[in-house]
Amino acid sequence: MNSVTENISLKKIIDGKLISSKVKAEIKEEVSELVQSGKRPPGLAFILVGEDPASKVYVKNKGKACSDIGFYSVTEKLPDSISEEELINLIQTFNNDEKIDGILVQLPLPKHINEQRVIESINYKKDVDGFHPENTGRLVSGIKSFIPCTPYGITELLKRYNIETSGKNVTVIGRSNIVGKPIANLLIQKEYNATVSICHSKTKDLKSYTLNADIIIAAIGSPDFLKGDMIKEDVVIIDVGINRVESSSSPNGYKITGDVDFESCLEKCKMITPVPGGVGPMTIAMLMKNTLDSYKKIIYS
Ligand code: NAD
Repeated sequence: MNSVTENISLKKIIDGKLISSKVKAEIKEEVSELVQSGKRPPGLAFILVGEDPASKVYVKNKGKACSDIGFYSVTEKLPDSISEEELINLIQTFNNDEKIDGILVQLPLPKHINEQRVIESINYKKDVDGFHPENTGRLVSGIKSFIPCTPYGITELLKRYNIETSGKNVTVIGRSNIVGKPIANLLIQKEYNATVSICHSKTKDLKSYTLNADIIIAAIGSPDFLKGDMIKEDVVIIDVGINRVESSSSPNGYKITGDVDFESCLEKCKMITPVPGGVGPMTIAMLMKNTLDSYKKIIYS
């Protein structure tokens, strides 16, 4: 048993909050040594367009993580009315800024802006979100690249909890570019050696895939979607979902819930990530890791 498993009170819980704190503490120590030796800190630029409340919270939390671990960060808040060209010009400025190692454009963007064009305008060597086609292509080819932060966080949890993936059947529910596709592509690489099924909204008989899975990764965006009768004994469940559902017992009138019906799955499963406190905190930690790696020129020199 490693120190992580000893430290958790509930043995089945994969504690993303704990692991993300460890990852951030490791990065903080490294940054502190860099700065003490006279070097500049790693730098991250955030671009927030419009007034979407969830996006504002995400950017605020990411900015706080930067200051907590000693990164330099800058946040540009732009109005909804900004043109695509103005946004791309700002990205170019950060592409050429030597204090900036990573650029993050918070998605989604307003409808009049072509998201793909914006992503492609980021220098792929500073694409710490890992959404640029250069990084996507490299990931699929098994070449070193920036890995999108949520899938990267999932693999970090699997590693730190010593969860075996080699030869295991993994069912990924969801085929988005930011979660489903990259995590599936990662887990079939030789580093993980899993056999992966990717399911989506048009999959027939989803239950046959989930019942066959040793590991299930749920990235659907549908509260409590995966039920206890859809899983086999001893499955490992990674719940990526973040859903806001009405709750009269919560002071603000809503609660955050995952894509997994935690109550009905807990008894049968071997391990499970809670929501909140599972995959969510890992996403920010791995953004910091990607930025540090960019600074150190580990991915691209
Ligand atoms: P998305 O909407 O882009 O994709 C959802 C996927 O679910 C689609 O591929 C769709 O085919 C599939 N799906 C929908 N209904 C289905 C059904 N009935 N059966 C099988 N598949 C079905 O979503 P996304 O961006 O991948 O996000 C998924 C969830 O993860 C959301 O709740 C989102 O908020 C959350 N998320 C969390 C983090 C994090 O940091 N924890 C990061 C990204 C996304």
